[in-house]
Amino acid sequence: MRKSIVRIVGTLAVVAAVTAVGCGRQAQTEAVNPGGDRSGTVGIAMPTKSSERWVADGANIAQQFADLGYETDLQYGDDVVQNQVSQIENMITKGVKALVIAPIDSSSLTDTLQRAADAGIPVVSYDRLIRGTENVDYYATFDNFGVGVLQASYIVDSLGVKDGAGPFNIELFAGSPDDNNATFFFNGAMSVLQPYLDSGRLVVKSGQTSFGQVATLRWDGGLAQSRMDNLLSRAYTSGRVDAVLSPYDGLSLGIISALKSSGYGTPNNPLPIVTGQDAELASVKSIVAGEQTQTVFKDTRELAKAAVQMTDSLLTGGTPEVNDTKTYDNGVKVVPAFLLDPVSVDRTNYQQVLIDSGYYTPAQLA
Ligand code: BGC
Repeated sequence: MRKSIVRIVGTLAVVAAVTAVGCGRQAQTEAVNPGGDRSGTVGIAMPTKSSERWVADGANIAQQFADLGYETDLQYGDDVVQNQVSQIENMITKGVKALVIAPIDSSSLTDTLQRAADAGIPVVSYDRLIRGTENVDYYATFDNFGVGVLQASYIVDSLGVKDGAGPFNIELFAGSPDDNNATFFFNGAMSVLQPYLDSGRLVVKSGQTSFGQVATLRWDGGLAQSRMDNLLSRAYTSGRVDAVLSPYDGLSLGIISALKSSGYGTPNNPLPIVTGQDAELASVKSIVAGEQTQTVFKDTRELAKAAVQMTDSLLTGGTPEVNDTKTYDNGVKVVPAFLLDPVSVDRTNYQQVLIDSGYYTPAQLA
């Protein structure tokens, strides 16, 4: 932590505990002088409004900073790297006190964050790791490898391959190659799937198994849909797809559209198992309707809380709570991180995980 840039505004320490829904991890952040001077603006840079989760993240972060007394400047980059760079540079010029950033391209902020460091502005990396710079102080995220493990374990358990069932056909999708999380999700999933691919219990008929072959630039659902169309017409002139590893709900819905256009989704030709991530409303509705099979819920309220506490702690002379100091090497340094636990959701537990926790109202899912 760059102590020199942190204003110490008081001496009274309190401990605020945050408990993440459905998980055992707790963030305990020490805040110094909680009633003290929290004036000034925090810059919040989010990647896109085209996915519900980021809209919720931005709103939660801004609200929580406002509750503490900060002003906020919340900007979305429309998934265009240069937009986000300009937005952050404007924030620096305007003199924000801190930056919370979910990068569009993990590696494109090196020069911008050097400017932030020169101006003494601390940076918290939000959900996605900022790579290639020493000028990122802390990282709030989920157990990203664990997300992939949950998705792949769901497939393996549902198909019963552990108990010798199969062989089954599976196709693989990964996220955006410029998002550090995408390789974590993919590697987590492959850690579960690889033994079954090796033993032949799971077969990728397209032969496309490397991250480079299955990645989806900017997490674009349309691209996933056309890739699935291609896979079906080239590799499945005979036989059927039994499972699709999809790392994100927006891709899952594109994949399901392609499957339906190709005749899946009838009693004689049911949809394969299709995983997902983020528990976005459209996907939860699809799960309830029996189309998408699974998603991974990451409670954006809790992630926002972790990031806001980290930032507030930096600005008030406390020490942000971390629970991981090894995993997130950004190429220049290992960024100290607080990881929350993701939760697998399907038809059997969506009510308990998403509705009973207040994340969605029953009316939103109607
Ligand atoms: C996030 C996921 C999200 C994906 C696409 C990743 O960095 O961790 O939750 O599904 O971006 O927006």
